[in-house]
Formats: sequence, C-alpha cells, structure tokens
Amino acid sequence: MPKKFLLEHNRPDCIGCGACAAVAPEFWEMNDDGKSDIKSGKSREDGWQELEIEEKDFEQNKQAAESCPVNVIHLKKKDTDEKII
Ligand code: SF4
Repeated sequence: MPKKFLLEHNRPDCIGCGACAAVAPEFWEMNDDGKSDIKSGKSREDGWQELEIEEKDFEQNKQAAESCPVNVIHLKKKDTDEKII
C-alpha cells in the first residue's frame, strides 16, 4: 500500500504529557528522557522526527495530533505537501 501521509513530531517542543502514546500506542511511545518518540521514526537534523504512513494509519495519528496539548504533532499529504494538522 502506498504511503500517503507524512507524520511529523516537533520533538524539541514536546512536553512529555503522554497523550499521543495513550491514544496511538502503535505509533507513539514515551522515551526515558521524558519526551515521546514516533516508533521507527527517522530523526532529522532539526530535532524533529518523521515517518511516512499509510491511509489506514491516518486516523489514529490524527487523533494523537488532536490530543497533543502543545500541537507538536503534524500530518501532511505526501503528494501535495498540504498540511492537515
Ligand atoms: S501529546 Fe504532544 S506533548 Fe504530549 S507527549 Fe505526545 S507529542 Fe509530546
């Protein structure tokens, strides 16, 4: 199945509340340093993490993004770069 969305985590600004890991544990976990990680996510030089995801995994990650109190989880369409959240 083609990967249609890019999931991004502004990790430097994560406050470690744990909401994303509670809402979407398949994709998010808490790290020992107190912040969350995208499971199997790629770390970028700017400190953000990213992961390409399929359509079927969009909804749970959108819910994780909506649960984040500091809005550091983002989703983009891969083909158009359109920001969804
Ligand atoms: S919900 Fe947001 S602030 Fe809370 S751990 Fe996840 S990314 Fe960090």
